[in-house]
Amino acid sequence: QVVVVGSYVIDLCFNCEHFPAPGETLAGTSRTGPGGKGSNQAVAAGRAGAPTLYVGAIGDDAFGRDAQAFYEREGIATHWAVKSTQPTGSAAILVNAEGQNQIIVALAANLKLAKSDLPAIAIDGARMVICQLEANLPATTHALKLGRDAGALTILNPAPLRPDFKATMLKHVDILIPNETEFVELINRLGLHPGKKPLTTTAMLKLPPAKLHALCGTIGVPVVIVTLGMRGCFISRADGYVEVPAFQVKAVDTTGAGDAFVGGFAAGLLEHDGDLAAAARHGCAVAALSVTKPGTAPSMPTRAAVQRFLRR
Ligand code: ADP
Repeated sequence: QVVVVGSYVIDLCFNCEHFPAPGETLAGTSRTGPGGKGSNQAVAAGRAGAPTLYVGAIGDDAFGRDAQAFYEREGIATHWAVKSTQPTGSAAILVNAEGQNQIIVALAANLKLAKSDLPAIAIDGARMVICQLEANLPATTHALKLGRDAGALTILNPAPLRPDFKATMLKHVDILIPNETEFVELINRLGLHPGKKPLTTTAMLKLPPAKLHALCGTIGVPVVIVTLGMRGCFISRADGYVEVPAFQVKAVDTTGAGDAFVGGFAAGLLEHDGDLAAAARHGCAVAALSVTKPGTAPSMPTRAAVQRFLRR
């Protein structure tokens, strides 16, 4: 099975005409929904048909119970670490009439995920272990290490690239999946850009594929997959590179596209027996379908929807 170790956050989304000024109270509309990169990726993989176990930390509170109920409804297996000293992670998302957003994320219980919270037995039998950088970093690193020691394929989505991220974590990673911003920041942080000035996203997007491939190779992870939004993704591994185009869809909400890609990629790897390009195409299909609907986890497509989309 696929084990996803990472964050759960309840998204509290508010729509307003304009952002409130200090001291101002505005009327608006709201909706809540399950979010957090780890959880979104687990939902994407589970709905896309991969047997999935989600490992996350929540508080002993109403939001935490909502999270548990959500997973029961989804029929996705979970291993929860319930933290009595911390609230469940939450995000306040303000969206104004122009569609711009302002977000505050309180990771709370996610930062208290401990090494001892990890279900070592489940990880021992896993085909894949997937992590991001929103939950506690030492526990995340430990999850990757346990996965690697057990012979599972380890996948890291280095998002968000936190200031306390340490490159040593990468030695436990088989497949690294950054988006273009994370890729550029990682290259700069690791001092891998051959030029005098730091790499910019604009410069990265202009690199010929062979140069981008070479740059991916300097990271030292066997496979690097850079997601490029509407441009699809770029797969780089020792024996060469492959460019996988995105699917043309009418996007209504691209939040969580990266999470949909990672979950869809994992499900695709199982479906296509480890074929990276086929799995990435599957990831692009899951992500494309997810951007046609609002929300993050609730917008993840089912296996049937993905198959229909790929056959069209
Ligand atoms: P993130 O959400 O982390 O910024 P990206 O924007 O790179 O990640 O998107 C991840 C994947 O989602 C892309 O590789 C692509 O396949 C798909 N995707 C993103 N935006 C669109 C879009 N507007 N139309 C179709 N597919 C998209």
